[in-house]
Amino acid sequence: MNVLLVEDSRAIRQLVTAYVEQFGHRVISVESGESAMEIFDQSQIDMVLMDIELPGIDGFEVTKRIRARLSGDWIPIVFLSSNSSDQHFVEGINAGGDAYLAKPVNGPVLQSMVQAMGRIAAIQEQLQIANKELSRLAHIDALTELNNRRGFVLHYGREWGRSSRENQPLSVVMIDIDSFKTFNDNYGHLAGDDCLRLVAKTLVSSLLRPTDMVARYGGEEFVVLLPNTSLEGAMLVADRLRESVAQQQVAHDFSPVAKHITISAGCAEKKAGQAPNQLIDSADKSLYLAKENGRNQVYGE
Ligand code: GH3
Ligand code: MG
Ligand code: MG
Ligand code: MG
Repeated sequence: MNVLLVEDSRAIRQLVTAYVEQFGHRVISVESGESAMEIFDQSQIDMVLMDIELPGIDGFEVTKRIRARLSGDWIPIVFLSSNSSDQHFVEGINAGGDAYLAKPVNGPVLQSMVQAMGRIAAIQEQLQIANKELSRLAHIDALTELNNRRGFVLHYGREWGRSSRENQPLSVVMIDIDSFKTFNDNYGHLAGDDCLRLVAKTLVSSLLRPTDMVARYGGEEFVVLLPNTSLEGAMLVADRLRESVAQQQVAHDFSPVAKHITISAGCAEKKAGQAPNQLIDSADKSLYLAKENGRNQVYGE
């Protein structure tokens, strides 16, 4: 661990550093709260040992600032103080400290404290990794590995904000597989799942810009988000997607429109004064019209 030691007494700095280094940790020591904040901003610190009486801002205040800077993350902060009053203890914990050691520091006690805090820090880190993974999984569709609707909504909000700020166009394409119910009914649900995976892969590989994104919006519906793209551009992209899916030649003998799997697509471009869900509604309406007009086609207005 990288341990930040904030202590204005040179003798104590040397003593504490020796004890902590003996345990295999790296110690960065500073004499004041101001220097502590500088180091904190520059380095990866895993634990802080904090004196209370310091020149300039005191240890309580430094602790508060570190906690504010961490926002959401956690590292242990242990006070080292020669004032062992209950009131000091309470104040230290209130400031955001986790434990309190009396000076003069006893070597084995300090080492045990660092060990115990290190254990908690390790559990905390594992929890954070697990939480990140859970949050990632919550936004991914298990079948196609595309973003799911939740993932799309998150991304959509960000892109909507960006297009407003930068005054750039933003388009949405809603895609729905044609006659997918009869595909499932005739070829089985597993073949249906395979088909969904293949369509997903085809859509991904047919999008050219790294900022374009495709998500599984629901059952056999996909949504494509095209930043910096006008309606005209979106219709070209949508038709390329339609063509790519058709080229996969997934046999569908029960489709009324072709001998293979096809998709219909509805496009819409963000209009001034529109709310985010109105753009989705417009793309949905276009999709409905593409279906009405005979499927295996792109519609947009
Ligand atoms: P249309 O051309 O009007 O879009 O007709 P459709 O048959 O595609 O539309 P409908 O909404 O009637 O049927 C959608 C089908 O998609 C029904 C459902 O069984 C199938 N489906 C939805 N999600 C999944 C899935 O995860 N796996 C499989 N295999 N099928 C799915
Ligand atoms: Mg001091
Ligand atoms: Mg559908
Ligand atoms: Mg369909």
